[in-house]
Amino acid sequence: MYPREFDYVAPGTLDEALAVLASNPGAKIMSGGMSLIPMMKLRLLSPATVIDIGRIPGLDAIEDRGDHLAIGALVRHAQTASSDLVTTYAAALAQAAALTGDVQVRNRGTTVGAVAHADLAADTTAAVLALGATMVARSSAGTREIPASEFFVDTLTSALADDEILVELRVPKSGEGESSAYTKLGRRGGESDYAVAGVAAWVRKTNGSVSDARVALTGVGSKAMLSSGAMDAIIGSDGSEAAIAAAADRAADGISVLEDLYGSEEYKAHLAKVYVKRALGAALS
Ligand SMILES: Cc1cc2nc3c(=O)[nH]c(=O)nc-3n(C[C@H](O)[C@H](O)[C@H](O)COP(=O)(O)OP(=O)(O)OC[C@H]3O[C@@H](n4cnc5c(N)ncnc54)[C@H](O)[C@@H]3O)c2cc1C
Repeated sequence: MYPREFDYVAPGTLDEALAVLASNPGAKIMSGGMSLIPMMKLRLLSPATVIDIGRIPGLDAIEDRGDHLAIGALVRHAQTASSDLVTTYAAALAQAAALTGDVQVRNRGTTVGAVAHADLAADTTAAVLALGATMVARSSAGTREIPASEFFVDTLTSALADDEILVELRVPKSGEGESSAYTKLGRRGGESDYAVAGVAAWVRKTNGSVSDARVALTGVGSKAMLSSGAMDAIIGSDGSEAAIAAAADRAADGISVLEDLYGSEEYKAHLAKVYVKRALGAALS
C-alpha cells in the first residue's frame, strides 16, 4: 500500500527540526524509517509532515563520558552491535542490537529510534531498561532526562511528548563486578526477528553475592517491563544455578502476560522463565 500524501522536511540542524516540530502538531520524526515507513504504508500512521533528522550532523556518535556511554540519535543498530565501548560496558545493549532484524534493518534502523518507537516486542527496549539507561529529550522549551523505568508507557507509547525529539541515550557503564546479557526467542524461530520473548539482565556481584540486579522482559506484556519477581529472588542470593532457577520461576510474577499471534499467555509465561534463566545465567557466568 502507498502512504497518504505528506510533507517531507529534512532540517540541517536540531533547532530547525524542533521548530518545525513545534509548528506542525502531529508531525513525525524519522530517523532510520524502518518502523515509521512500514506503518505509514499500512496506514496505521498518516502524519501530515515527516521530519527526517537523518542529515543533522553530530548525532551519530557513541561517546565514552566517564561513568556512562552516550549514544546519539542517529547511531544505527549495526554501529551499536559492533561498538567496542558498548560491548565492553553495556553488553546487553550490543547483544540486543546484534539480534535486531536483518542486516538491512540493522544498517538503517537506529538504537534511539527503536527506543522511541517502544514496540512491545523490540529488543533494545529490554536492554535499556535492564541497564538503567536515561533518555535525553529535547524540545524548543529545553532538555529533559527520562529514566528508562518511566519511559515505556504502553504498546507503541512512550513518555516522550509530541514536541520532543529523543537526542541521546545515556547508558551507565558496567563497572567492577557488574555485567549484563540479552537473549531471546525470535518470531521466526531464529533470533533475528522481533522477540516472541526476550530478556535482558544486569547484575552486580559484591563479595560473592548478588548485591543488585535488573531483569527486563520484552514480547511478554504490553511493553518492555522489569520482572520484580525475578529481581527480588536473585538480589541477595549467591547467584548460583539454584538461585537463578528460583529467580526464573518468578519471572512472570505480577505481570499481565499478553497472548498474541506468536503464543498463548501460558506459553509466553513459560518462555519468560526460560529466558530469564538464560539471561541471568549469561550475565552471572
Ligand atoms: C523487517 C524488519 C524487521 C525488524 N526486526 C526487528 C527486531 O527483530 N527487533 C526489533 O527490536 N526491531 C525490529 N525492527 C524494527 C527496527 O529495529 C527499527 O529500526 C526500529 O524499531 C525503529 O528505528 P528507526 O531508526 O528505523 O526509527 P523510525 O522508523 O524512523 O521511527 C520509529 C518511530 O519512532 C519515532 N522516532 C524515531 N526516532 C525518534 C527520535 N529521535 N525522537 C523522537 N521520536 C523518534 C518516529 O517518529 C516513529 O514513530 C524491524 C523492522 C523491520 C522493517
